[in-house]
Amino acid sequence: MQNNVLLEVNNLKTYFEMKKWGFVSIGHVRAVDNVSFNLKQGEALSVVGESGCGKTTLARTILGLYRPTSGDIVYDGKSINEFSKGEIKAYRAQLGYVQQDPYGALPPFMDVRRILAEPLIINGVKSRQEQEKLIERALTDLKMTPVEDFLPKFPHMLSGGQQQRIVIARAKILGPKLIVSDEPVSMLDASVRIEILQLMRQLQEEYDLAVIYITHDLSTVRYFSERILVMYGGKIVEQGPVQEFLDNPSHPYTQALLEATSDPDPKNAETFKKVPGGEPPSLLNPPPGCRFHPRCSYMIEGLCNREEPPDFIIKENHSAACWLYR
Ligand code: SF4
Repeated sequence: MQNNVLLEVNNLKTYFEMKKWGFVSIGHVRAVDNVSFNLKQGEALSVVGESGCGKTTLARTILGLYRPTSGDIVYDGKSINEFSKGEIKAYRAQLGYVQQDPYGALPPFMDVRRILAEPLIINGVKSRQEQEKLIERALTDLKMTPVEDFLPKFPHMLSGGQQQRIVIARAKILGPKLIVSDEPVSMLDASVRIEILQLMRQLQEEYDLAVIYITHDLSTVRYFSERILVMYGGKIVEQGPVQEFLDNPSHPYTQALLEATSDPDPKNAETFKKVPGGEPPSLLNPPPGCRFHPRCSYMIEGLCNREEPPDFIIKENHSAACWLYR
């Protein structure tokens, strides 16, 4: 393992079998198809792509919610493929998960105190005093003060931004080293998106957290992460440091994405405008060669539509899977 690498994802594939009439196999949806990357302790990585590109499946596989079809995830030097059921449970407890829909993520019948106490109780923090201390710290970190005002509230009594703060507080209350955050601000009002992202960034720096920030919204990544990884059709098509990526987007798909992202101000963040050239590919029956070739205006006939491009190095730590860089 490289020095301070917390997570290694190696040739990861997560496929789902599709069945007709419930029993006749018609193939596999290749939601994550041969994905590899590393994440260092304390690093923030954005994973971007259109809906259906495999980014949420990637997140859920890393979280241990889906078993990989093949490949490996190595966390803190240990392969999760070798974990027993008990170890998988312990592994999940070491990761924080922030979902897209805060209201759906919070049990409506529990007040804030109970919501935050739940993971502590499940993971063996029995002392009431210790629970109160950790709950108070989590709420204070999320700027939900005075703490006593929020403890008796139920989710429906909170705004969308406050609900998402509770989800984040719950994700970090056990002191994880890694938080996986799946579209954490996409369902919030534009006015609170930047506030929540800045808060997450502060926590990430203060606690030296590794964070995977999954988003379809390119305009917010520069405010959150150091590194970016772009997915298309279940594969990584480009990865590199955020500033280098924004200054020098190399893959034709990421160039189209950046052109389609009209407003860089996250207050006005919108979903990707339509990338020209049609729809993203079916993951059940993806096109041969480069998966972007049916939409790509630089397509090289006989090469791009036949052979899958490997990763080509553009600059140090910056690569793109495109035959233009062979
Ligand atoms: Fe376009 Fe070919 Fe590059 Fe794919 S490999 S993005 S089709 S130029």
